[in-house]
Amino acid sequence: MRRITIAIDGPAGAGKSTIAKYISQTLGITYLDTGAMYRAVALKAIREGVDTRDREKMALLVKNICIRIDFSEGEQRVFLDNEDVSEKIRSAQVSQGASDVATIPEVRLKMVELQRAIAKGKSVVMDGRDIGTYVLPDSEIKIFLTASLEERTRRRYMEQVSKGMDVSLDEVRKGIEYRDKNDSSRDFAPLAKARDAIEIDTTHMTVEEVARKIMGFIERFQ
Ligand code: C5P
Repeated sequence: MRRITIAIDGPAGAGKSTIAKYISQTLGITYLDTGAMYRAVALKAIREGVDTRDREKMALLVKNICIRIDFSEGEQRVFLDNEDVSEKIRSAQVSQGASDVATIPEVRLKMVELQRAIAKGKSVVMDGRDIGTYVLPDSEIKIFLTASLEERTRRRYMEQVSKGMDVSLDEVRKGIEYRDKNDSSRDFAPLAKARDAIEIDTTHMTVEEVARKIMGFIERFQ
């Protein structure tokens, strides 16, 4: 197989990571969940008592941060200053903090540098908000996944409940709305569909249907 990069963007809860994992396993290529990096930055800020919206302090904090992604066990693990934080970055507080730190250009530039380094010379499927528009604008396949707010809320809620988290539908909806607004309205590399991306509304689709559709595009490319 020749090298291929696949960019999957879209708002929270649209099904990006489920689909990206499926593609990565099917094609045997690396999957990078870029949101986990912004989450790790937010976790560090929260732990150090730094306001996640304070540009100056956040710019300083990312200067010396060490975020490492490990793929050795067949799944992505995220290390923050050598500690495995893969589970700790999934809380509601970290989700909101991630969306805040992601508006800060200094944070984004550092994360994008890491993301491009991981993609260098190999086939990858990457999911995020700005992969097709900014991180890997030359990706061979660009997908923009969407779904209604109600459906995205329902999916995120089910996912969190299955992990034993104590959340309400209303809290989950508010969290998603907050992030959607923040992610789409920031100045630097906002959540946006690339001009050449294929948009798929997954509201009424199963995971298998979405995966089959995307695999169809990939097969045509190869
Ligand atoms: O994808 P996930 O929900 O884990 O991302 C957490 C947050 O990180 C998003 O709400 C968004 O603000 C930010 N993010 C981003 N650009 C990316 C990936 C995530 O701004 N490429």
